[in-house]
Amino acid sequence: MCIFCKIVNKEVSNNTVHESEHFLAFHDLYPKAPIHVLIIPKQHVDCFQNVSGETMSALTEFTQEVATKIGVDKTGYRLITNNGDDGGQEVNHLHFHLLGGGKLPWDHSHEDSLKSL
Ligand code: AMP
Ligand code: ZN
Repeated sequence: MCIFCKIVNKEVSNNTVHESEHFLAFHDLYPKAPIHVLIIPKQHVDCFQNVSGETMSALTEFTQEVATKIGVDKTGYRLITNNGDDGGQEVNHLHFHLLGGGKLPWDHSHEDSLKSL
């Protein structure tokens, strides 16, 4: 069983932000921004490439609720999912990183190489 399934099953503790029948949002253990929340479907699906549109539709609404609950709905936030090896996915249970709590840096280091394409 994967680590996030163990969190859903309460075998591993978590710091819950918001919960519904189908989704869970909890604080990332190693935050990369002042606010760093992970949003997951309770049912295991390995990555974004394999998630259904139906789940994503419901996950959109849940994510908006999370943003409102933690107070970043007006100030803004960033939503990221790392998909597969090249995307840098480390936990193979679909999750969205919700980052916020201040102006977030954006890496422009690839722009010069893109111009030459
Ligand atoms: P990713 O690299 O996109 O797969 O992201 C995995 C994220 O899960 C990382 O940001 C980790 O810090 C986070 N993480 C791993 N284990 C836990 C855990 N037990 N509780 C909370 N966050 C975790
Ligand atoms: Zn899982």
